[in-house]
Amino acid sequence: MTAPRRPVIAVVGGGIAGLSAAWELVTSSDIATGAGPPIVHVLEAGNRVGGKLDSAEFAGRTVDLAADAFLARRPEATELCEQIGVRDELVPVGTTGASILARGRLRPMPAALNLGVPTRWWPLARSGLLSPGESLRVTKDLVMPHLGAAPVSGDRSVADIIGERLGRPVVERLVDPLIGGINAGGVDELSAAATFPALIAASHQTGSLMRSLGRLPRPAGSAPVFWSLRQGTASLVDRLVDKLVNPRSAWDVSIHTGVSVDAITQASGNPSGGNPSGGNPSGGNPSGDNPSGGGTWRLTLGGINAAGITGNGEGALAVDGIVLALPAQPASVLLAVHSPMAAGLLSAIDYSSVGVVTLAVQPDAINRRLDGTGFLVPRTSPIGGRPALMTGCTYLSRKWPHLASAGTELIRVSVGRYGDERHTQLDDDELTAAAFGELAQVLDIHGGFSDSRVTRWSGAFPQYRVGHLIRVAKIEEAVAALPGMAVAGSAYRGVGIPACVGSGRSAARTVLASLGESSR
Ligand SMILES: Cc1cc2nc3c(=O)[nH]c(=O)nc-3n(C[C@H](O)[C@H](O)[C@H](O)COP(=O)(O)OP(=O)(O)OC[C@H]3O[C@@H](n4cnc5c(N)ncnc54)[C@H](O)[C@@H]3O)c2cc1C
Repeated sequence: MTAPRRPVIAVVGGGIAGLSAAWELVTSSDIATGAGPPIVHVLEAGNRVGGKLDSAEFAGRTVDLAADAFLARRPEATELCEQIGVRDELVPVGTTGASILARGRLRPMPAALNLGVPTRWWPLARSGLLSPGESLRVTKDLVMPHLGAAPVSGDRSVADIIGERLGRPVVERLVDPLIGGINAGGVDELSAAATFPALIAASHQTGSLMRSLGRLPRPAGSAPVFWSLRQGTASLVDRLVDKLVNPRSAWDVSIHTGVSVDAITQASGNPSGGNPSGGNPSGGNPSGDNPSGGGTWRLTLGGINAAGITGNGEGALAVDGIVLALPAQPASVLLAVHSPMAAGLLSAIDYSSVGVVTLAVQPDAINRRLDGTGFLVPRTSPIGGRPALMTGCTYLSRKWPHLASAGTELIRVSVGRYGDERHTQLDDDELTAAAFGELAQVLDIHGGFSDSRVTRWSGAFPQYRVGHLIRVAKIEEAVAALPGMAVAGSAYRGVGIPACVGSGRSAARTVLASLGESSR
């Protein structure tokens, strides 16, 4: 009897979801397939792995160009950091609190918020975010339970629920910048079930929405809310890659950049599932001497480095399993022939594009005190009499003490959100000038900046519309019918780094389980 051959699995997409999937494939594989760790190819179209995690040297320090922190109370990212040995590199956020630009000036965010939604009236009233009349309107929530008609079941937009109970100004000045800001979207469309499930539950309770949200259990202890990495989030990616391709491990993982997967076909003669249990020891050979042999799936590869994998110029790779760790649009294209249903559902997930302008400014040129981690700019708050381009600002060297230096203040201005793509019409110099101009008005800066860097993230944030979770369940169900295939990434069940890590690992387990089934 021949020993079971090691399955070959492709991870398509080298963002944090894809890399986490690769990690799970090699660290948990024995359990599922019984054939030892699979041979894993991570295929990344771009010229570097990490996707939306990227860091760079700026003004003598390592700064993040997109995500700069992850939620500490979700376990997935912290656990991964422990497993790959970067736990000691984690740094807690150095200050708390933030402000909102509202009614003409920066106002500290009120205390007692639950994900941006007030849970007590008095701190909100005192914050000045609302006019006296608007504040009074909020008290209706305390005295008139269920302002709307009968309780509505199922998903609703975040704005719908909060607007009905606390009024539109709370939505526009607090909830949209905070919850909408996390997704660079707008709460008028964002699904409460997908972005803030506790809000749905609270809205079904009788009595005040604020009190219901205030009763929700809060994380105990003094653990930090956010972690960052001393050397930037790219150091998490770098360490993960080092571990995955470590020649001293028994794993066979190769990571290829500049290789896009342009099409997936089902290998002929093998229609009903991978058969990694024997017969073709060279199937899905990673070194390319028999790239078309054995696997269930055949990947058509493109990109400048494709030939380096297949070795024979054919541009195809045979694999037994696939984790598709891609944004919704490329995933939709690759799934179109195999599951029109999944492809159709994926193609309707919209994305917003954002930009980040990182600036180095002389501290003594800034005439306002920099309190907390920064400030948010609601869509309805103009700057200089015009609709603001900036959506928020992070005082990087306050938020992260390891970025502090006596001579320079590092400040990051964020631009763009769903429905506002004006930043894409500006070149880097124009965008920097516009962002700095607005910042100078808000913080009363006299003088210029000594260094700047623009980073653009097109198709950055998937928009979880009302009904998103049902859409995702249908996509997952449709993809589960394809042998050895699973999807992962920010398009599905959370855009944050922990959610993406969890999604990659879960997709990897799904693929292993499917291959384990087919080899039995
Ligand atoms: C500006 C910004 C700030 C953020 N801030 C935070 C934050 O502070 N905290 C937080 O937790 N999260 C934050 N996020 C969100 C988080 O960074 C992302 O949601 C997450 O990194 C997405 O990971 P992913 O692996 O799902 O997707 P991606 O990182 O998009 O990776 C997908 C990869 O697939 C590749 N690809 C696409 N098509 C193909 C193909 N056909 N073949 C091969 N490869 C392909 C792409 O090149 C890409 O590298 C931020 C995001 C942005 C843009």
